[in-house]
Formats: sequence, C-alpha cells, structure tokens
Amino acid sequence: SKKSNVGKITAEMIDSLSKQSFPPCMQNLHQSMKRDHHLKHGGRMQYGLFLKGIGLSLEEALRFWRTEFTKAMDGDKFDKQYSYNIRHNYGKEGKRADYTPYSCNKIIMSNAPGPGDNHGCPFRHTDADLLAQKLRLQGISKDFTDKIMKYTRDGHYQIACKYYFDATHSGVEEPDVNINHPNQYFDESQHFYS
Ligand code: SF4
Repeated sequence: SKKSNVGKITAEMIDSLSKQSFPPCMQNLHQSMKRDHHLKHGGRMQYGLFLKGIGLSLEEALRFWRTEFTKAMDGDKFDKQYSYNIRHNYGKEGKRADYTPYSCNKIIMSNAPGPGDNHGCPFRHTDADLLAQKLRLQGISKDFTDKIMKYTRDGHYQIACKYYFDATHSGVEEPDVNINHPNQYFDESQHFYS
C-alpha cells in the first residue's frame, strides 16, 4: 500500500522522482515551485496532498517546502504563513481531518486555475498549442503527440494522460494502464521501474 512508503521518501528525492514518475500536473507544479520559490494556495493543496500520498512524511514535507520557499522569503515568514497549512494537510491542525490527495476527476472538474495559478490538469487547463509545443520539447514522438492532442481536444483528458504515460515509459501502448488518480499514475510508474 502507499502508506508503506512513509519514512522512505525524503525531501531530497522529490526532484528526481518528479522527472521519473510524476504525472504532468505534478511535474508542472514542481517546476513552477522551483522557478518561483512559491506556489499559490490551490497549487500547495494539490501538490502537497499528492506528496503526502507518495509517502512524504510531515517532517520531510515541512523541510521540502521550507527549503524552496525560503529561497525567496525569510524563514520567519514561512513559519508564520505556510507551515500551518502543511501541518493542516497532515491533519495536525484545525479539524484534524486526514485530507486525501485529489483524484483526476476532482482536479479536472473543480477549482479551475486563474491567472498566476499552477494547479489543475495540463490536458484540461493548458492552452492546446502550448501543450503540443511542450510535448515536442520533451521529445514525445509525433505519433504519440498527435494521439495525446486528439484526446485532449476531444475532452478525454485522462485518456490523453494515459498516452502520455505510455509515451514516457515503455514507448508502446500499455492496455492495462488507465489513469484516474495522480498518485495511481505515480504508483504505476514506480512499478514500471521496479
Ligand atoms: Fe494529472 Fe490526472 Fe490530469 Fe494526468 S489526467 S495530468 S494525473 S490530473
């Protein structure tokens, strides 16, 4: 189960894991965070709960966010304004609920990103031409790019994501892999590499 990873994933591992096994929505959040040393609330929720789901403990999560955010703000401000939210996601503040990571359906259907936001699903919320350009820059083949863009334009975002998975893993179509949750994408990818 996913819980078995808790304690094994450290803040330092996130960068290489993001390149190897994160779905596009989480790669996008990771890269935005590294670029801006910040993420807005919607991004912190979507990304923070995903990281919790892959097994990042509260202690490692605090270290991960603090290291990145304090490249652009002092530690005091981080501790006052952001650590509460992170602890909250782990059920250590407020209602003490154990918040679960968002499914694809939730990311695609609710809380669309506004200007300056980096959360959401790239297949649903990124301009199609920009998305096609990004796929080419990542070295995705023309066949797969065409297929991904066809499903994106038809509104079948999770099928587009499935073909992205195939393109970036075996490079052949895997009938068994369907994507319904970013953490499931991560697990499928880790399984592929194990
Ligand atoms: Fe993320 Fe799901 Fe969109 Fe894939 S389909 S990018 S896993 S939200």
